[in-house]
Amino acid sequence: MEDNKLVKFYRVDSGKAGPRVLLTAGVHGDEYEPMLAAMQLVNEVPGLLKSGSVTIVPLTNETAYVNGIRYGEDGLDLARICPGKSDGTITERVASEISALIKESDYFIDMHTGGPAFEIYPLAGYVLHPSPEILEKQQEMALAFNLPLVWGTDYRPDGRTLSVARDANIPAIYLEFGGGTGFRMQVVNAYKTGFMRLLNYLNMLNGPAGSDSFVDKYWIEDHRQDSGYLQGKMPSPVDGIFVAEVKIGDKIKAGELFGKVVESFSGKQIDMYADIDGLVFLLRAMVKVKPGDALGGILPIGSLNERVIYE
Ligand SMILES: [Zn+2]
Repeated sequence: MEDNKLVKFYRVDSGKAGPRVLLTAGVHGDEYEPMLAAMQLVNEVPGLLKSGSVTIVPLTNETAYVNGIRYGEDGLDLARICPGKSDGTITERVASEISALIKESDYFIDMHTGGPAFEIYPLAGYVLHPSPEILEKQQEMALAFNLPLVWGTDYRPDGRTLSVARDANIPAIYLEFGGGTGFRMQVVNAYKTGFMRLLNYLNMLNGPAGSDSFVDKYWIEDHRQDSGYLQGKMPSPVDGIFVAEVKIGDKIKAGELFGKVVESFSGKQIDMYADIDGLVFLLRAMVKVKPGDALGGILPIGSLNERVIYE
């Protein structure tokens, strides 16, 4: 463990040549299951590794974690200000350090949840990288992780950990699963199992990584601008109370009721309808909403185990 820096990490080195894999949790300070998965992997990866090295950052943005919120104590979202500044505010310096770790890795995985505000269907995501070689590696990483949704999105947004990886031509994926109040051990388990599968795919493990069975997956690649921007989906028209009429993972058709917002003070009820057919993959978990807050998201899925592409 290295502790003269803001970003503390653990490095498991097999002592043999091989890929350098970086795994991060806690880029957002209020997404707890990835932190626990990372801490457990720190203990479980040694002994299983036959080649390469694994660097694990269980708590990337420590001041955000200490305050139990998404943002660092300077109010900045680490996932919007990468690559940061080495002489900047605390979150900017964290961004600078994590960006350096990303650039010295060969593969990068960033674990998230929906935080307190959202619940998210289990997914492995990547940017639709302009380089076909990088894109193919990212697709393979996301599929290897074995979550039921694989989602490629617009590569252009900057400020993310994944945009640092994009610019450095380092294959990278991010993970989303769960969120809302309470702790979900199934998220920890899915992330740990998925990570072992990924190491196995990279031929870095002694022995097999548990079960060989693959889950059926929906796979979407959406090249449209800001396709991966969760906070922009289905904005609330008013300030009020959100009552969902769907659950995460539901299939919904255009025109069906998604939920309603009961406007503050007036009590006026505004029904929100699905605008497309698809899978409810994002759902507001925090009941109180302000105008513009995302209420949820629908992905236009195709058939299972078949890639659908939107240009
Ligand atoms: Zn997050």
